[in-house]
Amino acid sequence: MEKQCIKNFTIEGLTEYFGSIGEKGYRAKQLMNWLYEKNVGSFHDMTNFSKELRGRLDGEFLVSALELAEQQVSEIDGTSKFLFLTRDGHYIESVLMNSEGSDEGRLTVCVSTQAGCAMGCRFCETAKMGFIRNLETAEILDQLCQVRRISGQRNNNVVFMGMGEPFMNYDAVLRAADIMNYSFGFHISVRKITISTSGVLAGIERFIDERRPYNLAISLNDTLPEKREKIMPVERSNPFSRISDLLDRKFPASRNRLTVVYVMRQDNISHEDAKRLKKMFRYNRVKLNLIPLNEGTHDYRPPTEQEVERFIKDLEIMNVPITVRKSLGRDISGACGQLSGKKYSGCGGCMAGNIPSDCI
Ligand code: SAH
Ligand code: SF4
Repeated sequence: MEKQCIKNFTIEGLTEYFGSIGEKGYRAKQLMNWLYEKNVGSFHDMTNFSKELRGRLDGEFLVSALELAEQQVSEIDGTSKFLFLTRDGHYIESVLMNSEGSDEGRLTVCVSTQAGCAMGCRFCETAKMGFIRNLETAEILDQLCQVRRISGQRNNNVVFMGMGEPFMNYDAVLRAADIMNYSFGFHISVRKITISTSGVLAGIERFIDERRPYNLAISLNDTLPEKREKIMPVERSNPFSRISDLLDRKFPASRNRLTVVYVMRQDNISHEDAKRLKKMFRYNRVKLNLIPLNEGTHDYRPPTEQEVERFIKDLEIMNVPITVRKSLGRDISGACGQLSGKKYSGCGGCMAGNIPSDCI
């Protein structure tokens, strides 16, 4: 029988497991503490477990779900991109970003939720891979474990903005977020965990209905439905107008903070676009996060700095609450929409990178 990854278990699952083998329930918390807080790589390091128990766990489960294939560090700003190999031979990526300049000591890990992505956004490199499979909870959590262990740094911020659409893998993603937040897990504050979706209506509704406490980011990227549909096929079956209606009905009563992500291209930053965006910002827990388009194999054109400035001024005059992402990791293509699961050694492209700013 193939071994299952222990990081797929919730605290309840572990408590049940220990009960089933005649061990006390508190072992579950101890185990979580070893796995996440102490972040050990082997059951044999769990020194408050008997040798027999360690041997038993080792015989039944794996601690690590991923293997590091390559790490690349930006010479410009220290942003790191990690390429991991899953047990069944797929590559996924995570990024570690240090945005100390914008908010002291902020260290963010961007995690992947799927190998590839089925959503087909035209400007995104991950889309070009097609959909391979959902990641398990253990594979999402192990990205954080390994990034911390390899870098020797403890991030205090997590964004689910790597490869994949989190709400097409809802259960595994939310379970991972819960363990990140759990006091015997990574103990990262709910305010420092952000899940980003391209706009999967059912997922957004479920997230709000279940009163999930994490920040939500929705990638809008265009203000006109017919244009949005061309760049984001998700618009066809999940029109943003319906997301807006849903938010009107449910957002005021929810506890969530919402970021609307807007990737700026040359053709979506007109004065008319700014006016349409203005209409969307009724609630004070919603912010607009502007990202200049990153280069890739797509044909879209990033805006010039002057164009970005003009658009920002337009929005500021209209009092739209905005944040603009900083460019980091320009030399390692570790930015939004650039994660393609390729071995970097072959990739000589110099691409602009972004980092989520203070709202995320
Ligand atoms: N699938 C989720 C999360 C992963 S994508 C989502 O779409 O929200 C993370 C972010 O990268 C999204 O906001 C997406 O719009 C953005 N993105 C994709 N391609 C990009 C590119 N070429 N330049 C800048 N941002 C991009
Ligand atoms: Fe998938 Fe997000 Fe890329 Fe769209 S932008 S293809 S949803 S990863």
